[in-house]
Amino acid sequence: MLGAEEILRWGMNEFGPRFAVVTSFQKEGMVLVDMAARLGSPVRVITLNTGRLPTETHAMMATVEARYGITVERIAPDPVEVEKMVEAHGLDLFRKEVVLRKLCCQVRKVRVLDRILTHLDAYSVGLRRSQAESREAVEQKAFIGGKWKLSPLALWTAADVEEYTVRNDVPVHPLYAQGYTSIGCAPCTRAVTAEEGERAGRWWWEVEGDKECGLHFSPEGKMVRELDVLVSELMNA
Ligand code: SF4
Repeated sequence: MLGAEEILRWGMNEFGPRFAVVTSFQKEGMVLVDMAARLGSPVRVITLNTGRLPTETHAMMATVEARYGITVERIAPDPVEVEKMVEAHGLDLFRKEVVLRKLCCQVRKVRVLDRILTHLDAYSVGLRRSQAESREAVEQKAFIGGKWKLSPLALWTAADVEEYTVRNDVPVHPLYAQGYTSIGCAPCTRAVTAEEGERAGRWWWEVEGDKECGLHFSPEGKMVRELDVLVSELMNA
């Protein structure tokens, strides 16, 4: 079992500017940003600017830049893909059916990350196994599609994250104070109650959804094919 710092240091030292922390500024991502800053070498911090982020997340980017003296790289989706998707299915297509929600995540997140990864050899994310059933098998270091995906916090609990955050006075996304336990796009995330799971506030209207956007876990084969068809229909429309 490797320590979180050890994994992060390996990524930073081994790959330099071809390594980045990819984060949406939730507590886990912030632990990684803080840890990387303490390790001394400059680290790239990249975020997916989906076009549907809450204003609090944009404020958080400014907070991070001021605190750590870095420039957050905000990467947006392809504007033509977004325009065609919205034209075909509406701005809030994610409410209509799971496949359209996954299409929106595909266009605004997954395809953006794929583009980012063409310029990286390794990246780090804040996944924890204890966040959800779907994350129980997360590896600390995984070599996927020719890239190293590091999850230094895979074995951490929410309490570990909290302890690190408080001890190091790490900036906290303001939506946590409003009862959020997971933070993504504004229309697809809500606060949760004490009885609900950590990711219950994501796409809460879905009965059959898996609470994942496809960034970390590919959807099942049939869904992948449907998404491929939908994306290619959009681009050929
Ligand atoms: S979280 Fe919602 S708005 Fe954001 S990309 Fe996914 S479906 Fe679209």
